[in-house]
Amino acid sequence: MDKSSFFNPEFETLDRKQIEALQLERLKATVAHCYNGSAFYKARFDSIGLKPEDIKTLDDLRRVPFTTKQDLRDTYPFGMASVPLDKCVRLHSSSGTTGNPTVILHTQRDLDQWANAVARCLWMVGCRPDDVFQNTSGYGMFTGGLGFQYGAEKLGMLTVPAAAGNTLRQLKFFKDFNTTVVHAIPSYAARLYEVMVEKGIDPRRDLKLRTLVIGAEPHSEDTRRRIEDMLGVKAYNSFGMSEMCGPGVAFECKEQNGMHIWEDYYIVEIVDPDTLEPVPDGEVGELVLTTINREAMPLLRYRTRDLTRILPGDCPCGRHHKRLDRMKGRSDDMIILKGVNIFPIQIETILMQFKELASDYLITLETLEDNDAMTVDVELSDMFIDDYAALQRLEREITRQLHDEILITPKVRLVPKGSLPKSEGKAVRVKDLRKKY
Ligand code: ADP
Ligand code: ZN
Repeated sequence: MDKSSFFNPEFETLDRKQIEALQLERLKATVAHCYNGSAFYKARFDSIGLKPEDIKTLDDLRRVPFTTKQDLRDTYPFGMASVPLDKCVRLHSSSGTTGNPTVILHTQRDLDQWANAVARCLWMVGCRPDDVFQNTSGYGMFTGGLGFQYGAEKLGMLTVPAAAGNTLRQLKFFKDFNTTVVHAIPSYAARLYEVMVEKGIDPRRDLKLRTLVIGAEPHSEDTRRRIEDMLGVKAYNSFGMSEMCGPGVAFECKEQNGMHIWEDYYIVEIVDPDTLEPVPDGEVGELVLTTINREAMPLLRYRTRDLTRILPGDCPCGRHHKRLDRMKGRSDDMIILKGVNIFPIQIETILMQFKELASDYLITLETLEDNDAMTVDVELSDMFIDDYAALQRLEREITRQLHDEILITPKVRLVPKGSLPKSEGKAVRVKDLRKKY
């Protein structure tokens, strides 16, 4: 095996047995650290009579209670720390639309390990020190900013911390600095291309872009392929969340077939969100993560709310770290309409198969004459359709395919390109205006 394709060959090439041995060692240390360092975890363990010594095998992890986002809110801001605050050097906080936000603390070691994980991901998709990396994420509390920044620096690339927004300036930087790698959320990648077209920039001819890192929001395989075609790049899916540091948790390798989750940092479980029992590999359930390489604020069996599955089988890239499938969405994103459970990504998957459609869409749920209904507004691609009958046929065909997928007949409206509201952060795909009784 060619060692140069790995950033941390000693960890990335571990076989399953070695991964599990390392996980057990780190799990035991983490559990003891939490019990001794965090009043929260000590109380949790004591309430069920569990002692750190009771964790003797990886299966024993199932004896540990789950940690939830609510626990983070209840202990806001510092109640879950496992080290004294004077050992911490940074915190990140998620916005939190209801109640307290959540706070994640980091020691210097945590930040170094996080940067290492991000560097490992970027190296895996071919980034090297002679690349120029431009980050279009918001900096500050949002972890996609500083998380990628330190990771890309650790790898040794020249970094362009452009931050979010100001698309014209982003394009100027692409050109002037010969940017080769870009990190952008998928909805913003599409926006970048729109503005390139408006300004007469042909990315293949005028720019050096080669690799795109897209993540932070659910997107379909077709969306990825579209972005690749538009920008003339390879686009790799990146998964992370503030509670697990941020980016760098799981990342696609060059096979573009599932995201390797770094099992020397995390123990993965997929559970049935209702029964909380494990589901077999290959079945979709809620992702539960235990951090085993963190100091300031390790989280044990954290319920992420994200729904995904573990892809069975080995990856040809030589890494045995498990692969997560594309996120299906969060259990809290699930739309329940007329008793039917629907994920926005199911709708996106259908829409993105139509060449006549652009990437932006908006699902509106409203109560019309006491009936709940769904409208899907979707932008037409640049292709100019002035044939009214053709538009109607297209609307009907989209409606039919959506109905086959979600078992509900939405009202589909084709709208001109650029007419749906754009956000600078994660795209807003669902507006729920239903009357709440
Ligand atoms: P917030 O919780 O405020 O959205 P985060 O930035 O921590 O802040 O968001 C993490 C969440 O973003 C994940 O739990 C997941 O739902 C979503 N996410 C992150 N990366 C991806 C990805 N590659 N595909 C789908 N969803 C993702
Ligand atoms: Zn792989």
